Amino acid sequence: MALAHILDGLADYLQHRIEEGERWAEISPATLAALRQPAGALHHSPAPARTAPAIAPPASPRPVPAAPPPVAPAPDRTPRAAPPPTSVPVAHPPPAPPATRAPATPAVATDRAPYTRFGTTPALDAIASRVAACQQCGLCKQRQQVVPGQGNPHPELVFVGEGPGADEDQQGLAFVGRAGQLLTRMILAMGLTREDVWIGNVVKCRPPENRTPLPDEMAACLPYLRAQLEILQPKVIVALGATALKGLLDVQTGITKLRGHWLSFEGIDVMPTYHPSYLLRSGGDSGASSRYWDVWEDLSAVLQRLGRPVPARKKPAPPAG
Ligand code: SF4
Repeated sequence: MALAHILDGLADYLQHRIEEGERWAEISPATLAALRQPAGALHHSPAPARTAPAIAPPASPRPVPAAPPPVAPAPDRTPRAAPPPTSVPVAHPPPAPPATRAPATPAVATDRAPYTRFGTTPALDAIASRVAACQQCGLCKQRQQVVPGQGNPHPELVFVGEGPGADEDQQGLAFVGRAGQLLTRMILAMGLTREDVWIGNVVKCRPPENRTPLPDEMAACLPYLRAQLEILQPKVIVALGATALKGLLDVQTGITKLRGHWLSFEGIDVMPTYHPSYLLRSGGDSGASSRYWDVWEDLSAVLQRLGRPVPARKKPAPPAG
């Protein structure tokens, strides 16, 4: 009888593991010993460590094998008849409690998501280090921090603005002020998050009083962005505003005429559209401004170019707070 209880307990334990989605189970000698203990003591037994030798389905009375063959997922394959290598009498050993799993942390998808660099690579870090020490133009003199850009180091989509503002200068992160929050809402409306994309600027240091970067400042800084894009290898660049487009492509045509038209930078598709700051001055994303719907049309074209579904055209939620 005692042996049968041990086997029942072991079988139930394996069944729990299977129901938890485990493809194979590991049972340490400590767990085996725990199965032999009285019920009260067993509830305090530690969970089997993953590094412990695994036990195969006890199809033979041989000792525990060193290699961990997988436990078959079908319940009817869970062995019950073969005796484990023990003869300790145990009365009604309950099954070991199945390992509990912490629920996956849901992705943060709000326009107030904490802004971080999300991810990087040594090559991107090397560029950021060079930017941090750069004095190639006069914008280095008043910067608090450089803003090299941040986001997914393997993005399909990159957003490029003209330069950091006051919030970005303080935090060292691109698009974190009001315009950044609007950009975040635009990204969310596309069915993406900031973690999916990479965001940067043509110049990495804040122009004084948020003035437009000068042509020589953009020319001095563009090699950094060019090097970043060579690493990032996006499928599409969204150029935010006339200055970003001019810095990238040195075009003289205004953004109003070029937005919505595909261009190319180093072989990468470029979609020009309005800068979020311009949208804020034109009614934001309340839906009242036709400019917002122009941008949505441009971003929809981007999604189609990426082979992604285009969410239904709807007014985005207003900013929280
Ligand atoms: S804006 Fe660019 S080129 Fe000018 S100092 Fe900053 S990093 Fe260097």
